[in-house]
This record gives sequence, structure tokens and C-alpha cells, in this order.
Amino acid sequence: MNYDAHFRCSEGCDENYPLNEVVYRCTKCHGLLEVQHDMNALKQRKADDWKSLFEKRYMRTQYPYGSGVWGKKELVCPTLDNENIVSMYEGGTNLFWAERLGAQLGLPDLWIKQCGNSHTGSFKDLGMTVLVSMVKQIIADGGDIRAVMCASTGDTSASLAAYASAAGIPAIILLPKAKVTREQLIQPIANGAMTLSLETDFDGCMAIVQKLAARKDFYLANSINSIRIEGQKTISIEIVQQFDWEVPDWVIIPGGNLGNVSALGLGFLMMLELGIIDKLPRIACAQAERANPLYRSYRTGFTEFRAITAQPTQATAIQIGNPVSIHRAIRTLKQFDGIVDQASEEELADAAARADRTGLFNCPHTGVALAVLIKMIERRQIHPDERVIVISTANGLKFPDFKVGYHHVAPGEPPPRYLNAPVELPADYDGVLQKISAHLDT
Ligand SMILES: *Cc1c(COP(=O)(O)O)cnc(C)c1O
Ligand SMILES: [Zn+2]
Repeated sequence: MNYDAHFRCSEGCDENYPLNEVVYRCTKCHGLLEVQHDMNALKQRKADDWKSLFEKRYMRTQYPYGSGVWGKKELVCPTLDNENIVSMYEGGTNLFWAERLGAQLGLPDLWIKQCGNSHTGSFKDLGMTVLVSMVKQIIADGGDIRAVMCASTGDTSASLAAYASAAGIPAIILLPKAKVTREQLIQPIANGAMTLSLETDFDGCMAIVQKLAARKDFYLANSINSIRIEGQKTISIEIVQQFDWEVPDWVIIPGGNLGNVSALGLGFLMMLELGIIDKLPRIACAQAERANPLYRSYRTGFTEFRAITAQPTQATAIQIGNPVSIHRAIRTLKQFDGIVDQASEEELADAAARADRTGLFNCPHTGVALAVLIKMIERRQIHPDERVIVISTANGLKFPDFKVGYHHVAPGEPPPRYLNAPVELPADYDGVLQKISAHLDT
């Protein structure tokens, strides 16, 4: 069977472009593009046959199909030649049963999708493998692309740099100066990407990179490029697969530029159309209170949207005031009976630390989603018998200052709720034993 896919205008124009064309917006109306698959061809295969095909490949050794993304190649990017695929075995991440946290919250069926257990430590790898593979194919076919580039809050750049260097393609990274962690900054540097540290915020970097990408020989890797969304949508497929094809009741997703909300929505819609599932979950998007343009729009029933200047937040990867995928995200939330909520700095830090006490090691963005989960349970928006998936977007190890800062009492400030500060004492057996005993007795 020959499967096909192309770009089409997401605002309803009749415009179509091949996936190997360097184009990000509709040339008629300037709307974002989306990937349209040949659904009729895909429907020729029965739902049960799709399921068994995906299961047969999942985390096995046949390159590239063992990857969680490329095991679903027909639904992701069927027009790529396997020899151009740049894969690092992405996906296949643990769906952590949050047994103890769920018990504390009165929600026994609570699961955390650990998307940060990935090559560069965030879910961005899922989309970047598709994008860089497409660039490799364009170059192999004689296309003139001199570099791939992106603006980033730290994770997109790490991912782009890794995949580009694996493919031998030059990468240019635009970062807001002093607004990403040391760990995120060193990733593209180590991978040999040209790393530009600009005196602005993410939205400022985004404005510049979009201008640069008007040149056809610079390929833009931000999520404005909907080819990345195709890889990210496998998160939904993988979650359902991990539950033997049962659909959860809720998915809670931290949102910044809002590509991932749309991506997860797309994954579910595609499975529904192919008969792989027979209902949709509800989606909740979680924003930091200091970077909450979608939440503000939600409060108006999505009748209004205004870009804002995002304030500094510990959830640096979602410190975005003018999200590129705002229209797609609003459409997704309407289709999924969605809600949007926000978390304050204290709420997100406490939620992350509380969950850490039950075996996790959460990044601040996952903290935002967990804080929203707790509020939804308290408001009885989520019922005790519902199955809830929280999308954990990055590995906590990329955010050590967030975690160290939490477990450290600043003089004159009240200790945080889940503080576990290191105990300093002399190297003396009796003293050590006394401390341990006192600790275990409390
Ligand atoms: C990119 C990112 C997000 C936000 O995803 P969007 O698609 O921009 O909404 C959240 N958390 C982490 C860790 C990220 O890297
Ligand atoms: Zn258009």
C-alpha cells in the first residue's frame, strides 16, 4: 500500500504543498500549515491490523521501527525513505503508575507519561526526529539547505542540535540569554551547534528566527513547522497502546507554545478516524500563572485572545506570551471538551516536590501539570474513578537549580512544604546514629 501525506492550510484554504517543500505558512492567507494524510488509504487496513502491526514493532530491533515514532511511520510521515531517517530510538517511555501519589490524592488510576526519559531529556525528540529526517531527505534529493535553526526555551535547541549533529547538518540555535538552565545551554554547545545567546526573551528570539527563515536555505525547526507535530502525536498513540488500546478519561498537558496540546489532540483524532479507539479523552492544558495567555483566553470562552509579555517563571520552557500554535490549541480544546488552568510559582514547586516524594523527579513544567491536577481533584472536576494521564515533558535532571532551590531554606523565609534539606553534622558515629534515630521516630 502506498500512503501519502502533504501540507495543507489549517485555515481552510485550498492550498497544498509537498512535505519536502520549505514552507511553513499558507501562501494565500498566512495561516499555519498542517499535515494531511491520505486517510482513505490508511483506512484500507483494519484497526486490529494497525494495532498488531504497532505491537509487533514496539521497542524491537528492526531499524527504524523499534522507535516509538517510527513504529507508527505510516501515520507519521510515510513519504520518508528509511535510509534518511535519523532516529535515536525515541518514544517507548515509561507510563509511571503514580500509585502512592494517586492514593494520597484519592485517585488510584493516576499515571505519569515520562516523555523526558529520552535522548536529550524532553519530549521534543519525538518531533525532531521527523523534522531532521525530512531535512536529510531534502538534502539527499539535491535541495539547497545550509542549516537548520530554531529559537528555544532550552529543550527544542538541545533536541535539534543532537539530531542535526547525528545527521551532519549544521544547526543554529537562538536562546534568550540567561533564561535557560546550564544543562540546557551546554547541550547544543556540546553537539557543535552555533549557539546564539540573545538579550531578549523567547518571544524575541522567535521573532528573529522567523525573519531568518524567510530565506529558503535556512530550515526552521520551531513548532510553527507542523512536521514536528506529526512525531509528537505518537504520545497519544503510545499511551493508548500502553493501556492495551483503552482510552483514558483525562490527559493533562503543560502548555507554552501550545504545539504539544494540538499534537496530542491530533493523535487521538487520527486513531478515532481509523477505528483504533471509539471515544476521545478530555484534555486539560496547564499554564504557569506568569505565562498564561491561553488561560486568559479560556476565561473569555475563547472569544478573545491577547498576546502578553510572559513574566519570569521557574517553568522556563513555557515562559511564552505569544504562543505560535494558539489557534490550533483552541480548536483542539474545543474538540476535546477541554479546560485550561494555571499554577502559581508556589503551587508548581510544591506539586513537583510532593510527587518527587513518591518516586518521581519532576521538572517544573510537570509541576505545573501536577498542580493543576490537584486543583481539578479538589474542584471535583476529576472523579475518583477516572483514569488520568499527566504528561511529564522533561527530565528533572535538566533543572537542578529548581530542585536545589526548593530544598534550601533562605534565611527569613518560611520553609517550603515538602522541604528535605541535607543534614550537616560531624563525622561521629554516636552523633550520626542519634540523628537517624530521631528522624525515624518522628
Ligand atoms: C516545549 C516544552 C513544553 C511546552 O510545549 P509546547 O508544545 O510549547 O506547549 C513544556 N515542557 C517542556 C519541558 C518543554 O520542553
Ligand atoms: Zn490559507
